[in-house]
Amino acid sequence: METTVFRLEGVTKRYGDLVALDNVSLDVGVNEYVSFLGPSGSGKTTLLRVIAGFETPEVGRVFFEGRDITYQPAHERGIGFVFQNFALFPHLTVIGNVGFGLAHGKTPVAPAEVDRRARKMIDLVGLSGMEDRGVDQISGGQRQRVALARTLAMQPKLVLLDEPLGALDANLRGRMRNELRAIRERLGVTFLHVTGSENEALAMGDRVVVLDRGRIIQSGRSDEVYDTPASPDVAHFLNRFNLFEGRLADARFTGPFGSVAAPVARRSDRDIYAVRYDRMRVLPAQAATDGPALKATFVASEYLGSSIMNFFETADGKVVEMEHHLSLGAPDTYEAKRDYILTWNPDLAIVFGREGR
Ligand code: ADP
Ligand code: MG
Repeated sequence: METTVFRLEGVTKRYGDLVALDNVSLDVGVNEYVSFLGPSGSGKTTLLRVIAGFETPEVGRVFFEGRDITYQPAHERGIGFVFQNFALFPHLTVIGNVGFGLAHGKTPVAPAEVDRRARKMIDLVGLSGMEDRGVDQISGGQRQRVALARTLAMQPKLVLLDEPLGALDANLRGRMRNELRAIRERLGVTFLHVTGSENEALAMGDRVVVLDRGRIIQSGRSDEVYDTPASPDVAHFLNRFNLFEGRLADARFTGPFGSVAAPVARRSDRDIYAVRYDRMRVLPAQAATDGPALKATFVASEYLGSSIMNFFETADGKVVEMEHHLSLGAPDTYEAKRDYILTWNPDLAIVFGREGR
């Protein structure tokens, strides 16, 4: 049984002197949902463009369903693409947009069949009843769904999404995430989803691939990446960890919170101590603790729906974040400008360093 639907082998893509993709290899399975995460300029869009066939790599190969498609034109690949700045046809209705590719594609589809398939996709993205509206008579979020339905109507085996939810407000984004997942499950297609948002990547993906400067720096199940980032850079991009500089020596890490045992450390070119936001605990300033103790002043908190983020600042101006999941009960409240001690269970910290392995 063929389980790999898509494969990149040692793909390098340059723009002049700039290496946008640097020896990228990747296998994607049937019916997988892969999220790509990375800072702006890390090569996410270039990667999708190579897969879609809008760019040809200088080095490496692209395989789709076992065939080498490195030099196959984009329109022959059967790969769907939803851009961040999707362009709908402004003079067409919702159904006109969704059916356009079917009606005008390489293989002609009878009008009744175009209509049937377009209606099915419109239903799938939750726009039933809006078939005959103009696309200027629906909201931004609904237009995004039309763009998605238009792509799905072509029945691609692989769908590429380049920050498709970036333009939506937070509320709508959450709903679209759930719908994308449901659509994927119903259609059994493989999704590759580029996102600038770590929350989205962790929420959406079976697998998260982290890119930095054109390279894959980690690829794994989203909970694995979240629990065990492979490097300080990954931990940084996940935006879920407080990172402290310091020194790792003789299985102890000495940082702004004192010196704590660090029996397990991952090899890295920098000594960095990482503690997830939701592992931090807050103690009164006078509290005695034999664990890590970071003096910090409470600044403000922010309500995020399912959790509360509390922001503290250390004497040298570093912001430290502490997340309280509301499922764990009502949050404590802290007084602005007051000093506290932040601590955590050192077994739950992730230590990187030159003496790690
Ligand atoms: P991302 O989508 O992760 O923000 P991109 O794939 O768009 O990153 O870009 C990766 C790098 O390649 C960036 O440094 C970008 O400036 C460069 N780049 C992308 N497209 C082009 C292009 N057509 N010409 C020149 N440089 C480009
Ligand atoms: Mg991009």
